[in-house]
Amino acid sequence: MKKPLGCPACGSRIIDADTGAVTVTRVVSKNEISSPGHWEPDYILKCWKCGQHIGLKHIGHKMATEHQLILG
Ligand SMILES: [Zn+2]
Repeated sequence: MKKPLGCPACGSRIIDADTGAVTVTRVVSKNEISSPGHWEPDYILKCWKCGQHIGLKHIGHKMATEHQLILG
């Protein structure tokens, strides 16, 4: 099963994740890309719609029976 992950800036779907995947998404500034600070995402992608850089951090996986919405 997949669930869409939305851009935290504009809400457009930027990627699909497994239903059980626990992922935090956040807008990443250019400064953070060049010199990572306290929050280092596992992946950085660019939103196709608003052009913001979005950081993704995969923090775990839940069983399908106990999945819940995680709001980053
Ligand atoms: Zn966006």
